[in-house]
Amino acid sequence: MHYVSTRGHDGHASFSEILLGGLAPDGGLFLPEIYPRVTPDELTQWRSLSYADLAFEVLKKFATDIPESDLGALTSKTYTSTVYRNCRSGEKADDITPLRTLEKQDGNTLMLQSLSNGPTLAFKDMAMQLLGNLFEYTLAKQHAELNIFGATSGDTGSAAEYAMRGKKGIRVFMLSPHQRMSAFQTAQMFSLQDPNIFNIAVRGVFDDCQDMVKAVSNDLAFKAKQKIGTVNSINWARVVAQVVYYFRGYLAATTSNEQKVSFTVPSGNFGNVCAGHIARMMGLPVDKLVVATNENDVLHEFFRTGVYRVRKSAETYHTSSPSMDISKASNFERFIFDLLGRDSARVKALFAKVEHSGGFDLSGAAGSDGDEFKQIGQYGFLSGRSLHADRLRTIREVFAAQGLMIDTHTADGIKVARENLTPGVPMIVLETALPAKFNETVSEALGRDAERPAGFENIESLPQRFEVMNADVDAIKAFISNHTGL
Ligand SMILES: *Cc1c(COP(=O)(O)O)cnc(C)c1O
Repeated sequence: MHYVSTRGHDGHASFSEILLGGLAPDGGLFLPEIYPRVTPDELTQWRSLSYADLAFEVLKKFATDIPESDLGALTSKTYTSTVYRNCRSGEKADDITPLRTLEKQDGNTLMLQSLSNGPTLAFKDMAMQLLGNLFEYTLAKQHAELNIFGATSGDTGSAAEYAMRGKKGIRVFMLSPHQRMSAFQTAQMFSLQDPNIFNIAVRGVFDDCQDMVKAVSNDLAFKAKQKIGTVNSINWARVVAQVVYYFRGYLAATTSNEQKVSFTVPSGNFGNVCAGHIARMMGLPVDKLVVATNENDVLHEFFRTGVYRVRKSAETYHTSSPSMDISKASNFERFIFDLLGRDSARVKALFAKVEHSGGFDLSGAAGSDGDEFKQIGQYGFLSGRSLHADRLRTIREVFAAQGLMIDTHTADGIKVARENLTPGVPMIVLETALPAKFNETVSEALGRDAERPAGFENIESLPQRFEVMNADVDAIKAFISNHTGL
């Protein structure tokens, strides 16, 4: 198995070779040269596996250059009931991603798969925890080290820090806007005392943080000397780790491979639902993949019309499901590559067009860039949009009917899932965060605070370790080199 770029570059790179990197050398995204297939016999055997063993079976089809015994050790160490322990009552930590039935009516079944039982209470732990172990393993083999440098407004930064804390050969330097994250998210990140984690609170807004990450990335000499890397959502290993829970959800919802299920996915950068697309391409019997967006509906617009139109910052709304507040979807190019029959020259031209004119049109209308949107049905994609009022209403309804508290992103998923049910085909909504992370809106909806899992009760009062700095690139660079000693 080797990896190719969506824009045509083929350096015959292996899984380990692309693991630590970001974009392909031509600016495209890596994908396997062909999707491995899963046979019905394999699927049947996988029904009885633990999550860790299932992860091993899926990953070994993609990470063919890691010895199987090493890969098995990595997945066993990642997917344990101690790491994914933040379960609700009625859920078993051993299940890792427990599945429950929410509603059953007129042949329609709506289910919820919990992906948020990891250390930071959001689904990003599912992939990031594996990434931490894969990075540590690969760096040790190469006798190398890596300094992860990034910017966060919440979720990704904390998932990365909890995945990399205490890992040999790795340091994390994470910028965040000073006093602009929620108290809970600040406490989650800043209470980490591990000496390899550096939280830098920048006097400024998130865009200032991101600008500094870009400035450092453009300084190739500094980047090379300081061994700077990232863990952003286009990382291939993150996507492939997410493929596993689609298999798990399917196997938990069905008893025979003749059955189909659909998934609804609260979406931002299209990483999560892209993993669902890959699972479907591998032969998993998935009927529909429903992309749920919030007010930032760039993906819903595409799946409705075939027009991909990225938004400017002024048109990107701050919503109560903030992890879906995106202006362009960084993993979307992977799906477009498949939709265009893997024609990398066209992908390259279309994404060049995104850069200079803000989008492309595959609707087939006069003057459009192509008509491939006509084939969208073959990939099973549907979409929908959910607004603040929908979120509040859905949180209330689910609590009233089930006594179950859900977060705002999951509420977007449930709202959109209900609009896309098919009798006889279970619909699984992926739960992407626990409500404690977004208490402000949950308490607006319910008039009471969100539950917190055990161990998180007093997180805001723990001692915090962070550095406050100005939005000054040279000062940040000096801070990094002083702490790496490189
Ligand atoms: C990151 C995130 C999303 C969006 O996932 P993508 O992979 O970017 O589409 C949705 N909900 C929550 C809670 C998240 O943290």
